[in-house]
Amino acid sequence: MAAYDRIFNFSAGPSMLPVSALERAAKEMMNYGGSGMSVMEMSHRSKAFQQIFDDTQAKLRRLMNVPENYKILFLQTGASGQFSMVPLNLIGKTGKADYAVTGNFASIACKEAKKYGEIHVAASSEDQNFTYIPAQDQLQLSPDASYFYYCANNTIYGTEWQYIPETGDVPLVCDMSSDILSRQVDVSKYGLIFAGAQKNMAPAGLTVVIIREDLAGHELPYTPLMMNYQTMIDKDSMYNTPPCWCIYMLGLVLDWLEEQGGVPGMERIKHQKAQMLYDVIDSSRLFTAAAQPGSRSDMNVTFRTGNEELDAKFVAESVKAGFSNLKGHRKVGGMRASIYNAMPMEGVEKLCDFIRAFDKNN
Ligand SMILES: *Cc1c(COP(=O)(O)O)cnc(C)c1O
Repeated sequence: MAAYDRIFNFSAGPSMLPVSALERAAKEMMNYGGSGMSVMEMSHRSKAFQQIFDDTQAKLRRLMNVPENYKILFLQTGASGQFSMVPLNLIGKTGKADYAVTGNFASIACKEAKKYGEIHVAASSEDQNFTYIPAQDQLQLSPDASYFYYCANNTIYGTEWQYIPETGDVPLVCDMSSDILSRQVDVSKYGLIFAGAQKNMAPAGLTVVIIREDLAGHELPYTPLMMNYQTMIDKDSMYNTPPCWCIYMLGLVLDWLEEQGGVPGMERIKHQKAQMLYDVIDSSRLFTAAAQPGSRSDMNVTFRTGNEELDAKFVAESVKAGFSNLKGHRKVGGMRASIYNAMPMEGVEKLCDFIRAFDKNN
């Protein structure tokens, strides 16, 4: 880190990328693989780019153990675009869907879906300001739902589902934007998984969708061409120009992930980082974690002192100490440390030291 004067950036997204991926991108910037140009300048129809695209897709399939009957799509319009695309494509089956509302992005997705069908809130944790994840027996499931929607990790509130909901024959749709590739996921349990890339995967501008093939092709008749999964499946995400640079960067990040021991390796590392941070918060005098035990996120650690002035002091001093983006989201207040895959262990250790010192001195 020191070689570049980089700081520990705890941003909720876009967030840190692995140094090795950035270094490789820098090295290949002026002339990618003897092509005489950067990946940014390449035709998406060129052989060189097609190779990058195919390799990246294959790496992701391997790392996540994506079964054969699932397609991996590289799309745009962010994770938020999926809030519309999911109902447009999937709700037609019965006209109904179940949503678990456990945070900001799940709320937005739920509200958007109401434009396209009958939406049933199967569970909500709004009664306690989204500090917990409902248990399986609290889910009020509709047997005739076209799908069950949930958000695996609530980026703003700092809660994370610790189990995969059991919904029988109703396909699971999951927003994994902020914890994809940080833990092992049995893709075969899902109908559709999506994630904006800018937290754990790549720069902003790419949205990854993993969809069970048979779920596509049943879109509502007025579904825009570009929001139809089938359009993108038929053209392998290249109906139009894909986010080429981001796809290339994802490939580099996946190479790095492989070196961490793949997803199982990453899972161990990220859990160790989060545990270290929660332990320091729990054993402090001043700080409390915002999320309830059993629902805590390993990616976004939300905490506070309970005193707004003291929180502000913490944030101000943290900036001086070389940390950035520790201020919590305005909906939660306090602090939030986003410790995605690329946050080095050293960054979390230093933050723990800083919290301990602040706790002692205030
Ligand atoms: C960041 C985030 C989003 C929004 O992503 P965009 O790509 O900006 O649309 C949606 N869901 C979750 C869980 C997120 O963390």
